Amino acid sequence: MVGNAVMSTGQSHSERLAEALEHMHPELDLVREAGGDPVYLVGGAVRDLLLGRGRADIDLVVEGDAATLAARLGAEVTAHERFGTAKLTLEGHEVDVATARTEAYPHPGALPIVGPARHLEADLARRDFTINAMAIPLHGEPRLIDPHGGQVDLAARQLRVLHAGSFVDDPTRAIRAARYAARFGFGLEAETAELLAKADLSTVSADRRDAELLRLAGERTAVRAFELLSEWGLVVLCDDGLRAAANVDALLGREPWRDLVPRDRALFAAALDPWGDERELSALRPEHPSEAVAAASGRGMLELLIARALGAEWIDRYVAEWRHERLAIDGSDLIAAGIPEGPALGRGLKEALKRKLDGEIDGRDEELAVALAAARGE
Ligand code: ATP
Repeated sequence: MVGNAVMSTGQSHSERLAEALEHMHPELDLVREAGGDPVYLVGGAVRDLLLGRGRADIDLVVEGDAATLAARLGAEVTAHERFGTAKLTLEGHEVDVATARTEAYPHPGALPIVGPARHLEADLARRDFTINAMAIPLHGEPRLIDPHGGQVDLAARQLRVLHAGSFVDDPTRAIRAARYAARFGFGLEAETAELLAKADLSTVSADRRDAELLRLAGERTAVRAFELLSEWGLVVLCDDGLRAAANVDALLGREPWRDLVPRDRALFAAALDPWGDERELSALRPEHPSEAVAAASGRGMLELLIARALGAEWIDRYVAEWRHERLAIDGSDLIAAGIPEGPALGRGLKEALKRKLDGEIDGRDEELAVALAAARGE
């Protein structure tokens, strides 16, 4: 029982909470009706409920076994992971259920050793920020369980860690802080800011760090989040990292770039990758379309996008037009005209395409004439 930690401000408050819950997540009635071990809505879903924001994914914690709850619900279990967790679908909504657990960190930055917790309180105590460490019981009267003062921090629009060792245990929380701060326009509570300044991301594996950075890059407010990471001295962005990321963001919102590359990967690469070939490509000022095609063809879209974000405007036309340019003739036309199979064919077609790109020839006959001449070495 979480007892004295409960922040209940009377009937009207709990009624409001019940209403919001019913409105936002009506499917959770099923959990209430299923009975069994105590179940709580936790984490981001509670935070977003209090903020009045809609959210897609729901996290539940059960003081018991997650699989047993899933069975009681008769829900479709789509995944069952190692430690008492289950993913299910409730009336079309994805729900993550976890057995209440505690974590211990064998050394800074290591993956935690996870163990069962009998009570929700221990589960909330392992969380990153107070605003993510609240819960609402789904059995009985809805009320806010807020042992760490999350509601006060939400009102103060700030992120606060639960204990002084938080970033030492898991420095990826510093990246999460930038993600939430940018998303909600929140600041850092004073002591949290001091602790965060000492966070050492080098104790975390590159995989874990990059997974959080990629989640950050997936946010609508990713550019602001990168800016914060940089301001906080957590990540050293190369010279134009922020500008490149902002440009990538803008480019991906319009043609011809829309949907050509995953936005999160592109922003990640723009802000964090020290670009080599991309910078070289961006410095190029081709005088003819054929020169642009020679420089750009064979390169990946991501590379092209970054070079474009670094200033090479001509790449827009390469992507929109020039890369799609095709001849009306092909090798068989040259063979029919007496050119033997071999490198001469390629030479001829290449020259015809180059001249077509540069607007020097037009139509099948001119293409054939140019291709034949080049194939014959004229
Ligand atoms: P989002 O709104 O981005 O989905 P979320 O709050 O649901 O955010 P998740 O990463 O899905 O975030 O994590 C769910 C919950 O698990 C968080 O609200 C937080 O309480 C907890 N959590 C996740 N990662 C960590 C971490 N590295 N350290 C401590 N707690 C964490």
